[in-house]
Amino acid sequence: MITVMKFGGTSVGSVEAFNRVADIIINEKGKKIIVISAISGITDFLASAIENNEVVMDDAIKIFRDKHLNIARCLLSKKLYDEFLNDFEVRFSQFKNVMFSDEEKRDPYYNDNVLSQGERFSSLILSYLIKSKGYESVALTSEMAGIYAMGKTMSGLCDFKKTEVGLKTSVVPLLENNIIPIITGFYGINKDGKPLTFGRGGSDYTASAIGNAVNASSIQIWTDVDGFMSADPRLVKNAVTLAEMSFDEAAELTHFGAKVLHPMAIEPAKLKCIPLWIKNSYRPENPGTLIHCVNEERYEPIRSVAIKLDLSILTLTVKEMLHKPMFFAKVLEKLSEADICIYGVSTSLFSIALLVRNIDLEKCLTLLNVSSDKSIEKVNVKNNMTLICTVGDNLLDRCEFCGDIFNTIRNAGTNVEMISKGASNVTLNFVVSKDYATKIIKMIHEKFISKGALV
Ligand code: ASP
Ligand code: MG
Repeated sequence: MITVMKFGGTSVGSVEAFNRVADIIINEKGKKIIVISAISGITDFLASAIENNEVVMDDAIKIFRDKHLNIARCLLSKKLYDEFLNDFEVRFSQFKNVMFSDEEKRDPYYNDNVLSQGERFSSLILSYLIKSKGYESVALTSEMAGIYAMGKTMSGLCDFKKTEVGLKTSVVPLLENNIIPIITGFYGINKDGKPLTFGRGGSDYTASAIGNAVNASSIQIWTDVDGFMSADPRLVKNAVTLAEMSFDEAAELTHFGAKVLHPMAIEPAKLKCIPLWIKNSYRPENPGTLIHCVNEERYEPIRSVAIKLDLSILTLTVKEMLHKPMFFAKVLEKLSEADICIYGVSTSLFSIALLVRNIDLEKCLTLLNVSSDKSIEKVNVKNNMTLICTVGDNLLDRCEFCGDIFNTIRNAGTNVEMISKGASNVTLNFVVSKDYATKIIKMIHEKFISKGALV
């Protein structure tokens, strides 16, 4: 029985926060593997340091060093701090080599290497802090733990097979000897032995990937909120924390609002049905949200309602689109090559409507060559649209729920601009004008959630 516990940057943002985290770890019974992010703000700091010149780099390195040493000094006894300092200096000189070496700078994975540096130091501090509390612990970088990654720079994926072997060799023996491993989140090593990050916020994914690789009995993601909510509490006053959700429900919500969990963290846990908890490190006594394989029958149609603002609908009317299937393929290819995220698609026999961010609209028009492509008959743009995502794994089973939702929109006095139903088993997504979004979200919450089984 292994528990993987991951702590985000805000959970280790200060001396007090580090202490809180160490106590949570110690209080957890059984074998545990800890995954940690960089101290909050450090990854952003590293990202901006490499954008500046080397004079500024000198300052940046000093700020980085002082920040970590000051926290460690407050947490550790003089004797332990001196021991810590020896390990710190080894990692610090490697850090400096990375930052200043021209050879490293030419490496296509240079940014991954620099951005991965914060985790190497937060993990070291936490490991020493746990030792100071009388428990054995080792800080492992992803290189040492054997976490392998593959793919493009800043968007790696875990190589599960190699990671499973890596962890069996380096981490499992520690657990058997009651030693608590503290592992760097956020990155693995690629085929050339270089750090490759899993994208910003990727430590959640590391935890889930480790859970998958060691067949953990649970994965805990410790953050600074109580869990997933039935709605954004800034919009809906009586929004509640959800006690549990299915993996599919949570996966849809990861793309909205508070960014409680990295979207990629669902899959590794879901593949092996490992329960995944969202917990608040500032309020560990709160139950949090459990994300799991749901077997039992549920009664609420909607569990959560979320919104995404600042979107536009771009509609292209194409002559005989039915006979030109390549047109659709080309549109998707061009936009995805430019990393433009498409939040929804709707097609008719002659037209295709795409939901994209307001700020990507101009780029889309240029990429799709709308002014000169002869096959495009008409272009229509609607700005300031809002996507409303209703989530619930019963939602699509009973026809009356959809009717009720659209009735609610009618009662709000507006119309639906675009609908997506059927793509996912657990969501009904629709787009309305920004002016009505808050009103609709409140009405839906009131009708389906506040009065439903959740309260
Ligand atoms: N430290 C990394 C970031 O800020 C990874 C993480 O926090 O999950 O993106
Ligand atoms: Mg996070």
